[in-house]
Amino acid sequence: TKRLDGKIALITGGASVPGLGSATAQRLAEEGAKVCVTDIDLDGAEAVAKAIRDAGGTAMALKQDVAEEADWDSVLDRIAQEWGSLDILVNNAGIAVLRPIENLTSADWNKQLTVNLDSVFFGTRRAVEIMRKAGKGGSIVNLSSVAGLVGVPACSAYAAAKAGVRMFGKTIAIECARDNIRVNSIHPGMIDTNMQNVARSDNAEFFDQVVDSIPMGRMGDPVDIANAVLFLSCDEGRYVTGTELVVDGGMTAQ
Ligand code: NAD
Repeated sequence: TKRLDGKIALITGGASVPGLGSATAQRLAEEGAKVCVTDIDLDGAEAVAKAIRDAGGTAMALKQDVAEEADWDSVLDRIAQEWGSLDILVNNAGIAVLRPIENLTSADWNKQLTVNLDSVFFGTRRAVEIMRKAGKGGSIVNLSSVAGLVGVPACSAYAAAKAGVRMFGKTIAIECARDNIRVNSIHPGMIDTNMQNVARSDNAEFFDQVVDSIPMGRMGDPVDIANAVLFLSCDEGRYVTGTELVVDGGMTAQ
């Protein structure tokens, strides 16, 4: 038996390859979950779902803008129609606009808060409703960041959203603990994905210095985060709720 046999999972922002959402979808599918991969990039999400199906897993792709509440309704209705319920929600979709305060516009602020934080509220509210109705518990995993724990220059709006995700999740964890719905956040350091490729293209020399300063001396692999999501989603993590799992090669230990 696999760790997630019979489980139904929704992973947002799963189109990016290499990305944390696609790696997570793949890993959860390997462990037997049926995975729904959503993204604003439907073609990308389709490609990820197809690769999972080709490897023998069960996956479907849907278009979803996580900042749009109506998109959550259509995605969750579709999952209910196809598969019946929802056991695991991975709030992974996110954007990072790196700008010091003097260059940070209200539009930058609003965009990062809606995509990174409002989305988690919309998704969690609906997922809790569905999980409570089914009465089988569930797991909600929110992708925060080390920037939600410690200050990182040029990340103020992103950090505000990611710290919000952390405390929002803790509160919901307490509200839902008796329903056996667990809520945790993961705080990646620097993981080698398209998001970091974009950051590196802005200033490669500075970027490489930061990577060098990580105690483990390298970026993490997307599967390192996927394994953390798996732990928090499966029965081996059954007593873990309302906490944060830092996966950063020691970055925030110094
Ligand atoms: P990525 O940029 O490679 O992929 C993000 C995906 O989210 C893309 O496919 C994009 O199309 C999608 N997306 C963007 N806006 C969306 C929206 N409104 N609705 C639906 N989908 C949307 O990023 P990643 O590195 O895979 O990061 C995934 C998550 O992990 C993000 O929340 C990010 O903030 C967080 N994180 C990443 C790192 C890292 O080092 N890679 C570190 C800390 C936190």
